Amino acid sequence: MKYKYVFGPVPSRRLGMSLGVDIMPHKTCTLDCIYCECGKTTNLTLDRKDYISETLICEELNKILKSKPELDYITFSGSGEPTLNKCIGNIINFLKYEYPEYKIALLTNGTQLYQDKVRQSILTVDLVVASLDAATEAVFNAINRPHSELKLSKVIDGLISFRKEFKNDFWVEFFVIPDINDNDSELSEIRQLISRIKPDKIQLNTIDRPGTEHWVKPADKKVLAFISSSLYNAEIIDLFDSKYNNKIIAGNNNKQILTTIKRRPCTAEDVSQILGFDLEKVQNHLDSLVERGEIKKKKMQRGLFYIAIKS
Ligand code: SF4
Repeated sequence: MKYKYVFGPVPSRRLGMSLGVDIMPHKTCTLDCIYCECGKTTNLTLDRKDYISETLICEELNKILKSKPELDYITFSGSGEPTLNKCIGNIINFLKYEYPEYKIALLTNGTQLYQDKVRQSILTVDLVVASLDAATEAVFNAINRPHSELKLSKVIDGLISFRKEFKNDFWVEFFVIPDINDNDSELSEIRQLISRIKPDKIQLNTIDRPGTEHWVKPADKKVLAFISSSLYNAEIIDLFDSKYNNKIIAGNNNKQILTTIKRRPCTAEDVSQILGFDLEKVQNHLDSLVERGEIKKKKMQRGLFYIAIKS
């Protein structure tokens, strides 16, 4: 069975075993972040519409969830901004009604939360993780490269309003980019912003796989530790562990590996953990995909990554 909108379960660095749901067309987003691991935004937009119908998405969810997989979360994430899809609220309601035993997480860039109807549509989610990488418009423009009509002040208002209305877990993810948002003045403004937003937790992240702009480098561990100690309730996202025995959903190995890498660049170890395949077998598949010109390699601090080559 080939799935288009649901992927995994994937051992996530922060959510444990997570079944991903991608309800947006590839790279349709309000931002074009320099660190995005899914490549350049090809549809930079603020338009909310039914990009992918809820019927198609719920059909796939039904097929997978009826086998009762062991999951920590069903997670709205992927290669675009999920809150741009107008039917997100209906899909959440469907899951809450049909599969109440599962917790739902939403990874969002938070840029649509200034809209009342967007906030209302996601209030029953168990965990929302929203991005905030800048405290000033200049840094917002440099890192997140927003749609021209999107202002950081509006995004911040949305985050503050959402926190007041949302009663479940709300985390803010701060992506640290050396020499752009790790200086004293930006960090001091971020600190003040966080105290206004009042999330339950701050998660510090940095690039560990090839991003959209090749010059973006990972933050030093010492810098991350320093930032973490200076923010209230902050933690550094660790690499996921491999305690999970992953269940494999789809069929053809080569295709599964290619689909996984198309979603985001991975090391051989990542692929092995995500798909539950033996590492040696994964390496053989990766070598053959490189030979066939379908993927390429790139050395990063965390290891050798494989990246899909667009046809
Ligand atoms: S990182 Fe997220 S918000 Fe930024 S461009 Fe990629 S999909 Fe959009």
